[in-house]
Amino acid sequence: MVVDQLIRQEILGITPYVPGKPIEEVQRELGIEQVIKLASNENPLGPSAQAVQTAAEALSEVHLYPDGNCYLLKKALASHLEVEPEEIIVGNGCDEVIKLVAEAFFQPGDEVIVADPTFGEYAYATQLIGARLVKVKGATLGHDLEKMAAAVTAQTKAIFICNPNNPTGTMLNRVELEAFLDRIPRHVLVLIDQAYFEYVADPAYPNGIDYRGDGRVLTLRTFSKIYGLAGFRVGYGVGDRALITYLNRVREPFNVNRIGQLAAVAALRDQEHVARSLEVNQRGKEQLYQGLTALGLTYLPSYANFILFATPYPARAVFQAMLRKGVIVRSADIFGLPRHIRVTIGTEQENERFLTALAAVLREIKE
Ligand SMILES: *Cc1c(COP(=O)(O)O)cnc(C)c1O
Repeated sequence: MVVDQLIRQEILGITPYVPGKPIEEVQRELGIEQVIKLASNENPLGPSAQAVQTAAEALSEVHLYPDGNCYLLKKALASHLEVEPEEIIVGNGCDEVIKLVAEAFFQPGDEVIVADPTFGEYAYATQLIGARLVKVKGATLGHDLEKMAAAVTAQTKAIFICNPNNPTGTMLNRVELEAFLDRIPRHVLVLIDQAYFEYVADPAYPNGIDYRGDGRVLTLRTFSKIYGLAGFRVGYGVGDRALITYLNRVREPFNVNRIGQLAAVAALRDQEHVARSLEVNQRGKEQLYQGLTALGLTYLPSYANFILFATPYPARAVFQAMLRKGVIVRSADIFGLPRHIRVTIGTEQENERFLTALAAVLREIKE
């Protein structure tokens, strides 16, 4: 085929992203009506009602291009985060901000350090540019900062720190992060992904934004998780003005859609919804911990809205069997963990249904 000769070599190395299975697909393929999805760390309460209303009202103006500068959203974020609007870049999801970082800063020959396992977008953005991905596996699941710092070379361009880490749910505390930042030479960008920031209640949890004065630290956040707006695709980065200016150079002029910008402003205002979501998550976490323990399964204590647990059988088989019961979870084999499952914390009823299905699946596989 002629395209085989035309394709960039870098593209051949990219593993396509495996998204959580959509509910509609499972309904279609397996003919099950009642399907629940606990696979993509979405907010089980849905979006803020105020965000939905704002979005609905904005629909009639959708013939107009969005504000390319995200003026209102940046203003609202700046006030909420106590930073300047010039320190914020908004993206079509946090995923786009990651890609903008790669496009603006990475080049072939650069090395980019990530934990193993961690969020897959870092690998994708790195490989897209043709930079070299350096995966650092620790003795335990989660970030091994000692090993990651030791992996820095003269070629290192960036390090991704996912805190809490997806898929492990593990957290790095302030002391650990600051000791790490002190060790990392000035020629290395440090990208702190805090997609689950709002879920962490631990006082030792560091706020990445506090380190922006350092000049090479960019903190990533999103409206997709606790704010419940994953479908609108709005995420952002907070960092030094100079860094943000460079990201703005590579960004497309209208990268964040009009309705999403307005819905995000409304969602930010509705902190009651955030508080309620956090509460449901804390209670659901305890419920799932108890349920998993009762089934004799071990899990990693989670600082986010999902739990990674070990399965006595191949995770793929458990995942498939769960699907047939109408429960979509994430088989962690895609993260290099063939005997782990990642489950998003749902509502009380969803968690109950998940635990019942899991108990049945484990029984069936055993027989
Ligand atoms: C979900 C997630 C994101 C993606 O955020 P979007 O704003 O939806 O692109 C980023 N980082 C991590 C670690 C995530 O789990």
